[in-house]
Amino acid sequence: MAKSIQAIRGMNDCLPEQTPVWQKVENILKQVVSSYGYSEIRMPIVESTHLFKRSIGEVTDIVEKEMYTFDDRNGDSLTLRPEGTASCVRAGNEHGLLYNQERRLWYIGPMFRHERPQKGRYRQFHQFGVEVFGMASADIDAEVILMTAQFWQQLGLTDHVELQLNSLGSNEARAIYRDALVAFLTEHESALDEDSKRRMHTNPLRVLDSKSAAVQAILVDAPKLSDYLDQESKDHFAKLCQILDAAGVKYVVNEKIVRGLDYYNRTVFEWVTESLGSQGTVCAGGRYDGLVEQIGGKATPAVGFAMGLERLVLMLDTLDLNQDIAPEVDVYSVLVGEGTDIQGMLLTQQLRQTLPSIKVMNHCGGGNFKKQMKRADKSGARIALILGESEMETNQVTVKDLTGKNEQQTVAQSALAEVVATMLEN
Ligand code: ATP
Ligand code: MG
Repeated sequence: MAKSIQAIRGMNDCLPEQTPVWQKVENILKQVVSSYGYSEIRMPIVESTHLFKRSIGEVTDIVEKEMYTFDDRNGDSLTLRPEGTASCVRAGNEHGLLYNQERRLWYIGPMFRHERPQKGRYRQFHQFGVEVFGMASADIDAEVILMTAQFWQQLGLTDHVELQLNSLGSNEARAIYRDALVAFLTEHESALDEDSKRRMHTNPLRVLDSKSAAVQAILVDAPKLSDYLDQESKDHFAKLCQILDAAGVKYVVNEKIVRGLDYYNRTVFEWVTESLGSQGTVCAGGRYDGLVEQIGGKATPAVGFAMGLERLVLMLDTLDLNQDIAPEVDVYSVLVGEGTDIQGMLLTQQLRQTLPSIKVMNHCGGGNFKKQMKRADKSGARIALILGESEMETNQVTVKDLTGKNEQQTVAQSALAEVVATMLEN
């Protein structure tokens, strides 16, 4: 026998048992984002490698060690997108959507990062993201955060996530802070771990979110970013907090949130959970006023976020919040006797036309009554339509409520849709 071929490590199949949970999450996200009037944008999965190097930053984890980069047949360096923001800005610039305009956009799709696969961390994963362009004020930061709060509410996750907020200030303020931080870290260099020693020179703010307890102990006395914020950024942050307070959205200010990517300024935020172990960030975002210009457009303020769908699905599973998922079949036909295969096909076809929102599965392949009833049960259907020889003779059909809530009825085939609709409601 030939050796079987398996999926690439860290790239998962989503099997039929799991897809209903995914569909539930995706439907809720899409419904909420459209209730805010946002428009969908779809970008390619592969982009020029330069795009990510220039936008995400050369000295970030993503660009240094996580990208799937390869040369195509022309020798051009391409990369499977590790995130959506850069592609979205690239598309916006390319099609003239951004400059001097207001755009509220969202996207959904797979992203690729070569990380060590573990629970909540994969090499192909999926993000739902929002990017808003053309607004510099704190009210739009608040709007996107309120939208995320609405997601949790609709998903039933509000009690299981916490909002952490920070302000990174302006680029100028952050540069001054960076110097102060590097001076402090240099003084304590001998006590830092290897990772932090390296980051200290390449991306010093990232030392702040080091996972090492020893490094965190040293950081207690480090200069604080909040002491370096420019007045405008302070006002911006105060306004954001004021709106969140008014809307009753709880948050904690966490000065350690700096985000891994170069492009953020001012507001940064993360929604974290304790339900998933160490992969606790389910949504992350912030303001990135410099990015559009950095990748060749005209200066345009922007704010956005991305969330990891695998982590949301895991949370719903872990917290056992998927009881409300509707079965994939409402009605299953049971066809026993001469001519019932054809009549069953026609009857169910007609039923779907009259009641397009109900899910009707027609039995195929014959078999005895008992076997077909077992299939009906296994399908999860609420109702079995039974078409036997006696029903064929009288142009009737038997409608059986498999939950036993309603009496079994034998009715005219022409009345089927009405009877099914009533039974499903009761
Ligand atoms: P982490 O600190 O967990 O590595 P990140 O800062 O790299 O996250 P972002 O680039 O901000 O993550 O991506 C936004 C969200 O996408 C994360 O909060 C997470 O929910 C999800 N995510 C990121 N990387 C992965 C991955 N490898 N597998 C699954 N989900 C991921
Ligand atoms: Mg990461």
